[in-house]
Amino acid sequence: MKTERICLITNDVETTSILNHKLRDKTGEYVLNQGMPRLLDLYDKYGVKATFFYTGHIAKLYPDVVRIAYERGHEVGSHGLTHEVSKAFDVLSPEEQLSHLRQSKQILEDIIGEEVVSFRAPAARVDERFPLIMREAGFKVDSSVSSQRLDMMFSFGALKKLHWITAPRKAYFTKEDNIFKRGGSEILEVPISAMGFPYIGTFMRIAPALNRCTRQVLYWETLCNGRQFVFLTHPNEFIDEDQETTEIERRAKNYISYLLGDVIRHRLKVKNLGAKALPLYDRELEFFQRKDFEFVTCKEYYKRIKK
Ligand SMILES: [Zn+2]
Repeated sequence: MKTERICLITNDVETTSILNHKLRDKTGEYVLNQGMPRLLDLYDKYGVKATFFYTGHIAKLYPDVVRIAYERGHEVGSHGLTHEVSKAFDVLSPEEQLSHLRQSKQILEDIIGEEVVSFRAPAARVDERFPLIMREAGFKVDSSVSSQRLDMMFSFGALKKLHWITAPRKAYFTKEDNIFKRGGSEILEVPISAMGFPYIGTFMRIAPALNRCTRQVLYWETLCNGRQFVFLTHPNEFIDEDQETTEIERRAKNYISYLLGDVIRHRLKVKNLGAKALPLYDRELEFFQRKDFEFVTCKEYYKRIKK
């Protein structure tokens, strides 16, 4: 029997300027007018139904950035309220987490007039007890865990991300009080694909050849056990925006963290940005089409699993 071949294409929509290394409202305009149309056309070409996770911030600034994906049949999910590093979900109190979830959900539902049930945390930062808060806020699916992704030292919130090492690889219902473990909660975790290296847009741009190796290894795994592919990218990777300054803003507290998390990461992350990223992404989607994968949204996948 042929194993299931499912691919979830997920997009985090935010005002992060990769080129200028900061949050910038103007970047949201590029996302709306350039990044989103480019991605939506590519998705039409391959018959992809994708999930778009929006920060409340960009949704409020440019509601059309939500509408254009929704109207073309894609799922609208939440990417929290804000992408500010100091307000990451794993540093907020449980009350603040709940409030951010509820507000972001409301903003999106007001725009599309439909329930929002899927979530990804900004910078994929969540803490163990998150399923309780998600349920309270009315969410059903999370995609913030990146099982066996091992490059977390280059990102913020690295300590919590150590839980990724032992998290299940296939989609799983989490424990009530631990998002990194399988259990009996109503929250479905759809882990972002990784095998040491993450299978994401950033990596696709930085190291295309190595990324194809990662994809091939993940594909063999899917053939063995039917594990879903969950690809993560951002419309802000597909914009050609103006550069304000060549200085790199310091977000980290200590110097080592600044060097790893800010300087080195920035130098890598600007590679193959904008139009140059399109042919690379086209090749990834072409692979899934050729291998007969089905593209489904998070919400749709939840419905199937629940049956
Ligand atoms: Zn993000």
